[in-house]
Amino acid sequence: MTGERSLEWDIIISGAGAGGLTLASYLAGRGHRILVLDPRMGIGPIRRGELIQPLGLGILEELDLLEELWSLPHYRNESFRFLDGKGNLLMRSRYDSLGGRFPYAVSLEPHLLDGIMADRLKADPGVVFKFGCRYRSHRSGAEGITVEWEDAQGIRTARSSVLVADDGRRSGVRENGRFPGKVMTYKDSYLSWSFDLPSDAPPFLLEPEGRYFIGRGKIFFVFSVSPTRRYFLYMLKNGDRHVFDSRGTKGFLDEIEGWIPGLGNHLEASGLTDVTAVPEMRVMKVSLGNWTDGRVVLLGDAAHAMNPHVAQGRNQAMEDARVLAPILSGFLNGGARNPDLLKGYERFRRPVTESLHRLADEMTLVWNTSNPLVVPVRERVFRGIGRRSELEKKIVRTISGTSFQPLTAWDKFKALWYGAVH
Ligand SMILES: Cc1cc2nc3c(=O)[nH]c(=O)nc-3n(C[C@H](O)[C@H](O)[C@H](O)COP(=O)(O)OP(=O)(O)OC[C@H]3O[C@@H](n4cnc5c(N)ncnc54)[C@H](O)[C@@H]3O)c2cc1C
Repeated sequence: MTGERSLEWDIIISGAGAGGLTLASYLAGRGHRILVLDPRMGIGPIRRGELIQPLGLGILEELDLLEELWSLPHYRNESFRFLDGKGNLLMRSRYDSLGGRFPYAVSLEPHLLDGIMADRLKADPGVVFKFGCRYRSHRSGAEGITVEWEDAQGIRTARSSVLVADDGRRSGVRENGRFPGKVMTYKDSYLSWSFDLPSDAPPFLLEPEGRYFIGRGKIFFVFSVSPTRRYFLYMLKNGDRHVFDSRGTKGFLDEIEGWIPGLGNHLEASGLTDVTAVPEMRVMKVSLGNWTDGRVVLLGDAAHAMNPHVAQGRNQAMEDARVLAPILSGFLNGGARNPDLLKGYERFRRPVTESLHRLADEMTLVWNTSNPLVVPVRERVFRGIGRRSELEKKIVRTISGTSFQPLTAWDKFKALWYGAVH
């Protein structure tokens, strides 16, 4: 525990997202006084699922949360299918070919996981959650950080030794702290929806293997979050919601029928009757010159939001927390006069997220395109990767978060060669 007794908190975490919850879980029981602020009134569903990669599963195992995870509705993806716009198979990516502790990625609705983490933390006397509280500003002084937040009763302040920002891709802490770097919004956004299937649905609807349909300027992903519950992500080209909504619900459901026959009808029957009610996610890239400034530390999307094509954002936020926790503890337990200790965290983590940014940008360029010259090349590369197990393994290892092995120029040439239809 910090020697600076005048401070109310050792750590204030702004944001109870994946990163903040993981950080608090690693630090709980170490004697630190931790305050977690979040403007939401509690943890609730977001109408989409997320993939927990082997990287994230290893972290949950370290935190002794796997048993609770397995008790939640979830699905273990041993493989995923990549299909073209007409539903023809391009390749399968097989996690089960990797071996290791977790030869699968788990998909689930993330509020369920956040819920079990928050419940366990609430039992820890050192951790206090304040939902309904929005961070507003902070001020650094010799004795620590003064943090101002707002709740239904008004504006409040508290002091802490360290302020950690897990307040997401639009981070207010990052804005107020004037962290140098670039924050940009990708032009294509995504619609998401989760829905139940009756257990007697036809087998092609119940098919649980995750499917990536990648057509010309079209993307439609369907994943399982339980044996009978699914979610989809649908790319909204150029984020043009107005054009999309003007096609109407029927136009959208007819298109879904083209991807998976029967699904459009089922969605309508199960309650998707107004397409304007389908939530849209803007996707951002945050690329900063530094993640720490004195006693202020950014993690997760606040530090390095990335395109979801790499299916890593949550997993990387959790990994940030795993790396940061012992460094923060060391800082509070005596190294508080050495802010360079905190810099060690970003020195270790930034190269990984910068590589993922480059990969995510490349995937976005190639997957989202409607260029008629690029699409056949992309499909040939997919087929080639599927035919060469050494290439497929590199892709799966990279996406699983276990080791970063993107395809080299030579690998891509090989994929193009072996992907020729013969
Ligand atoms: C369509 C889509 C699909 C995705 N799929 C995957 C996937 O399959 N796998 C994966 O690993 N990642 C995925 N991601 C990325 C993942 O959702 C994020 O990277 C992850 O949630 C980041 O966690 P975080 O803790 O950094 O931030 P967040 O989860 O965004 O949490 C931020 C928290 O800060 C709180 N907050 C906001 N403002 C304030 C404030 N002023 N004061 C205090 N608190 C505040 C918010 O309420 C929120 O609880 C996907 C993202 C999108 C958009």
